[in-house]
Amino acid sequence: MKGVAILGATGSIGASALAVLAQHPDRFRAVALTAHRSADALRGLVARHRPSLAVLSDAEVPADAGGPTRWASGREALLEAATHPDADIVVNALVGAAGLEPTLAALEAGKRVALANKESLVCGGPLVLQAAERGGGELIPVDSEHSAIFQCLAGSRPGEVRRLILTASGGPFRCWAPELISSATAADALRHPTWDMGSKITIDSATLANKALEVIEAHFLFGVPYARIEAVVHPQSIIHSMVETVDGSVLAQMGFPTMELPVLYALAYPERLPYDSRRFDPVAAGTLTFEPVRDDCFPAFALGVRAGLHGGTTPAVFNAANEVAVAEFLAGRIPFGGIADSIADALERWPGGPVRTLDDVREADAWARRAAHTYLTRLAPC
Ligand code: NAD
Ligand code: MG
Repeated sequence: MKGVAILGATGSIGASALAVLAQHPDRFRAVALTAHRSADALRGLVARHRPSLAVLSDAEVPADAGGPTRWASGREALLEAATHPDADIVVNALVGAAGLEPTLAALEAGKRVALANKESLVCGGPLVLQAAERGGGELIPVDSEHSAIFQCLAGSRPGEVRRLILTASGGPFRCWAPELISSATAADALRHPTWDMGSKITIDSATLANKALEVIEAHFLFGVPYARIEAVVHPQSIIHSMVETVDGSVLAQMGFPTMELPVLYALAYPERLPYDSRRFDPVAAGTLTFEPVRDDCFPAFALGVRAGLHGGTTPAVFNAANEVAVAEFLAGRIPFGGIADSIADALERWPGGPVRTLDDVREADAWARRAAHTYLTRLAPC
């Protein structure tokens, strides 16, 4: 029986993780569940899964919280969940740069981290790798593209990979004219064609910032140089990503879109466990097509890849400016085109610097948040 801590249990990936646990109660047990502010949702999960610890990272413990579960609140309590002595596996399903510290803490404590929070690697890639090395922790991807690549790489040897090809759905604006895209509304952007996800990643999928974050994530996870990581639009989201080996062979991992299978694989690896989900049907999947990324229409993609190439704290600046701009867009205060514009402005003005400590990342992150706010308050409301 493995103990599992789920950070961000009330979110979309959190729900997938709990669905996986529900199918394998003899293998996995929830020992800690966290939410940011949604006390009622967390209370419901606690009643059903009976973890030892329940954490609200940014809200008071409800007065009537009782029973066998211990409740705690605040940032320290979130780190306590990430390092819980009964947790063998920590599912990091937090959203944003806030996920970095818990990832570092869990890896330092020797845990397996099933990582959905790609922002951990984007903001602090070198620190994450060092923490795993120092603490003996293990990093297994949950992001569907990276889970696909991880599965395709099983059994391969160092030096055998020529290229990683990440697939992208293309988002809701794949076929839109550029002038319409820049003034799209939040309702338009939240209508993702193939995946049902939290609001932040759904907007990132519409700008293609998500694919840039994933290129950086792949670089750190698999140690492959940026020049050998590509993205291709695949609107059906059936092939989750591909690996080309040095002999020219291409391996792909496929299936109907669901995040439960990548979570299951990350929890069970290196085993494969049975799972009751919609079986793949190649005929129902239909024609699979591929298109280049239209980077003229989706500037956030190229900005993010360039930030990755720049390295050091620059990806953290890309990420933080994006987080601020996405929140402003979702609040209806800026147009869709303002997201990429504010990222470009922050990146242009950031002098760069190395990632030696968590403080380096925090400083870059805070600077970029201020820069993006300043830029965006100057934009006329849409
Ligand atoms: P979500 O918004 O649905 O859920 C986020 C969870 O984190 C919630 O439980 C929320 O209470 C908590 N949270 C939010 N802000 C927090 C903060 N500052 N500190 C601590 N907790 C906080 O998000 P999601 O769609 O489940 O995505 C989670 C992560 O997984 C993101 O990094 C996303 O990019 C990645 N991811 C998601 C999907 C998907 O299908 N949803 C797919 C691939 C990768
Ligand atoms: Mg993904």
